[in-house]
Amino acid sequence: MKTSVIYTLLFLTTFLHAQNDFDYRWADSLFSEVQIGSIFSERDLIQQIKGEIPVVISAPHGGYLKPNDMKDRTKGRVNQDIKTLELSLSIINSIHKKFEKTPYAVINRIHRKKLDPNRDREAAAQGDSTAEKYWSIFHDYISASINEALDRFGYCLYFDIHAHKNKVDRIELGYLLDASILALPDSELNDEVFVEKSSYRLMTRHTGKSLAELIRGKTSFGQMLIEQGYETVPSKKIPSPITEDYFAGGFNTETHSVIKKGVIAAMQIETHFKGIRDSKENILNFGQKFSEILYNYMQLYFPEK
Ligand SMILES: [Zn+2]
Repeated sequence: MKTSVIYTLLFLTTFLHAQNDFDYRWADSLFSEVQIGSIFSERDLIQQIKGEIPVVISAPHGGYLKPNDMKDRTKGRVNQDIKTLELSLSIINSIHKKFEKTPYAVINRIHRKKLDPNRDREAAAQGDSTAEKYWSIFHDYISASINEALDRFGYCLYFDIHAHKNKVDRIELGYLLDASILALPDSELNDEVFVEKSSYRLMTRHTGKSLAELIRGKTSFGQMLIEQGYETVPSKKIPSPITEDYFAGGFNTETHSVIKKGVIAAMQIETHFKGIRDSKENILNFGQKFSEILYNYMQLYFPEK
């Protein structure tokens, strides 16, 4: 009797998850494997992970849940960034394995049709008070994580994870500098105006390196991704998108790269589908490569004293 109840529950759980088009058990198994603790908001809509290293990951657009009591958004983009929830979980899991410590993370499990946390409150929730509440939970947690990391370590790396459908299959790193600015030669890109505009403004001061060197030099994050087999702009190899479509970074990167203490390095990561999100294997591979790059990057720019 007891066994049949368990089987019925298992069947129902599987069925309900299939309804959401999301392999929760696979994604969540990434956590049980390494026992990363998650805290879920009411109704499991926002997932938060308390970090032990100065790295914050946010995933605003990969959610599947469409609560009936939240109104549909009718303006702006409403499509999900496919498999970015799973990709973010894979990145978090791999970082935990590589560093033997957990990054901070906040994952929105609500579908973009109901909430878009990478917008200001009004555009994000479009007047729905429940959506507004979860928007605040999402952003308060990023702020709290970054502030805590800055208090503990003096610096923080913040990554906002997305997906794009632009024509060229390559990762687009957004530092709040649009394509016309990236098209400038290094000598002009290094102008104080662009340094101040970018989400790497504090990194130039911390490292003493130029903005161009940091975002498209030999040891830029973009170039490190290229060396792991992922075409990326900007990088030493591809310094600017020129006339191709390109995402320069949105609300999250802009909002959370402004701090009053310590050093923050913030970027939006827009991933293409093929070779990154198109299979479980590639999702896991990307997480692993990402964690290795991150480890080397932190050794290089924030060596332990
Ligand atoms: Zn997105």
